[in-house]
Amino acid sequence: MKRHRFALLAGGLVCALLAACSSTQIDRGAYIAYTRYHAPSVDSRVRFLVMHYTQSGEARSLAVLTGDDVSVHYVVPDAPRIENGEPVVYQLVPETERAWHAGKSEWQGTTELNAASIGIENVNVGPIDTPQGRTWAPYPPAQVDAIVKLAKDIVTRYKIPPTRVVGHSDIAPQRKIDPGPAFPWRTLYDNGVGAWPDDAMVAQHLAGRDPKSPADVAALQQKLQRYGYEIATDGVLDEKTRRVIAAFQMHFRPADYAGNPDAETDAIAAALLEKYLP
Ligand SMILES: [Zn+2]
Repeated sequence: MKRHRFALLAGGLVCALLAACSSTQIDRGAYIAYTRYHAPSVDSRVRFLVMHYTQSGEARSLAVLTGDDVSVHYVVPDAPRIENGEPVVYQLVPETERAWHAGKSEWQGTTELNAASIGIENVNVGPIDTPQGRTWAPYPPAQVDAIVKLAKDIVTRYKIPPTRVVGHSDIAPQRKIDPGPAFPWRTLYDNGVGAWPDDAMVAQHLAGRDPKSPADVAALQQKLQRYGYEIATDGVLDEKTRRVIAAFQMHFRPADYAGNPDAETDAIAAALLEKYLP
């Protein structure tokens, strides 16, 4: 301790004499922060990546997201401008700061995901309801390319594990359905971002069951809870449970996201747990 103090004093003295140590101290007006010593025992604020759709066009999205109520770190246009062969995305908030995109949310036991995540809003109008039924606006290939490049950079820099790349609907399934079943989760996985089950493992967990046959509700609830969702494990197929199952299906089996607890959904959940959270 004494030696440490001496080193500090000596350092200060040398600085005073040489007047050449400005890079190790920051004068903030009323005091000086001395930055010569660095602690390596730290971790990042950012532990999750959350995907959204804007449900409106680019101009309207930017107006809302630079207003007083909500914000997000990145906005990916549906037709990104290309400069030097690279897509241009908007950054509205520095990654070190907390943006207001997730609201009341929970994933893998962490609540209020704004504090611990980076948010990406993708320009996409979401559901399109017609008399013939509901369809979903596609994510164009140029936008998917930009999403992949941005997301890959973020998960690499922050070492975000696959199961922590999530949709707004995953972390707030009772309130949200974005980024929707048209979101390119599989393409992201193929490019090293996020989770996806292996077909062989799904078949193994299906174990000869008819994919559409009913699964045990409590067993499926337990699997979804272990994977990260906020869900009861009481075996009751109520509206809340159906919404969580639908959120999981929109992410991992977008062809059918009706919220039915079927055997294929159960097998996909089991395969994901075996692969990522054994
Ligand atoms: Zn959202």
